[in-house]
Parts: sequence; C-alpha cells; structure tokens
Amino acid sequence: MLKEGGVTEDFAAERERMVAQQIAPRGITDQRLLAAMRKVPRHVFFCGPKAGIEAYGDHPVPIGEGQTISQPYMVALMTQYLRLTGSERVLEVGTGSGYQAAILAELAAEVYSVERIAKLAERATETLDRQGYRNVHVKLGDGILGWPEHAPYDGIIVTAGAPRVPAALTEQLGDGGALVVPVGPRHTQMLTIITRERDKLHRESGTACVFVKLIGDGGWEAEE
Ligand code: SAM
Repeated sequence: MLKEGGVTEDFAAERERMVAQQIAPRGITDQRLLAAMRKVPRHVFFCGPKAGIEAYGDHPVPIGEGQTISQPYMVALMTQYLRLTGSERVLEVGTGSGYQAAILAELAAEVYSVERIAKLAERATETLDRQGYRNVHVKLGDGILGWPEHAPYDGIIVTAGAPRVPAALTEQLGDGGALVVPVGPRHTQMLTIITRERDKLHRESGTACVFVKLIGDGGWEAEE
C-alpha cells in the first residue's frame, strides 16, 4: 500500500531500491543474501519518528546509547564473506539493534550474538522475538571473549572496530570458518578476514571502513 510521497507501508519498495541501488551494483552477488536484504524490515530494528525513511539510506543510523546500525552495504559485504549456505552456526559480536543478527538468521542455522550494553541487548531481543526469529540467541556480555559454550563457529562477525584481532575469536573459529572484523586505528579500519584451515589461519584485508569502538580488554577503553 502506498503512503504519502510514494512510500510503501511496509517499506518493501524501499528495500527493493536499497538492494538495486546500493548493494547489488557493489559486488554483492550471493542471491540468498540479496533475498534476505529484501526481506528483513530494517526499519523495525530502531526507533525514531523517521525510522522508516532513514532505515534504507546508504549510511549508518544512530540507534541510541552512542551506537549505530551499520550502512546496509557494509552489513551485506561482511555477511557475504561468511559464505553461508544454511547449516552454519554463527557468532556476532555487537548485537546493537539486532538487524545484522536477523540477516544472519535468514542465512544460517543458529546465530549467537553478544552485546555489552544492556538496553540494546534487551531491545534487540524483543525485536528479534517479535519478528519471529527463534534461531537467534542474544547474550549480555563482553563479546571480545566470544561465546565459548557454543564454539566452534562456522562464521564470526564483529560489528565494532578493534585495534587488533581478538585472540578468543580466532580460537573459537572452526575449521573452514571465516572471521570478519574491522581492524585498525580508532577512526579508520580495514575489514579483515581470517579463515581457518585446521591449525592454520589465513589473513586478508578487505575494504576500508569506520566502525564504533569494540570496547574491552583487547579492544578500546570506553572513554578513548
Ligand atoms: N550489528 C549491529 C546492528 O545490526 O545493529 C550494529 C552494531 S554497532 C555498529 C556496534 C555494537 O558493538 C554496539 O552495540 C556496541 O555496544 C557493541 N560492542 C562494543 N564493544 C563490545 C563488546 N566488547 N562486546 C559486545 N558488544 C560490543
């Protein structure tokens, strides 16, 4: 149904446009991922009067508590590195709004997501529950330590910028799995992709990016 200004009620047209203009032309070719980006209603994962319109713009958006929901393209790019086929167990560090977790939940079997800010963890849990995601498990805690109880993971995604790759996360990465983490100085990082082949870790650099801080021992201090 069309609302004023040609905006659809559930923003399906905005999602279609987001995929067609911001995501597919930038080298995201995984068809399951493109379908998930068209399906998941990004606007319900954060509040605010303009949430609907803003949610589908080509930029990050504030979600409260000084945090952001990442740009749609960055969500897609990081997810594509995991090469998910549907059977995987995935760890996310930095639940934030829960949107990235929902995209992962569309593509993998189980998603474990850790968030250090209680308000965000609670809100994301409620939103994911309302949207019917039964395969996402959110925990309040320090994601730099991973979530060892459910390791090894086939994929790990860190949605905050780290000064270095957290050792606990490479330890919890399973054979054949991929870890995607923004690594570098405070105001500009490189997406870093670590893949495990038995005892060997391979490291490659992707695109430059800017993320909020990964906070904790092995990350940044909260006040830096
Ligand atoms: N993935 C989120 C989404 O889809 O909305 C966006 C995440 S936001 C860019 C980064 C998140 O990482 C913030 O919510 C922040 O509180 C969280 N964070 C930072 N350090 C953390 C840590 N050590 N453990 C868990 N979460 C952390």
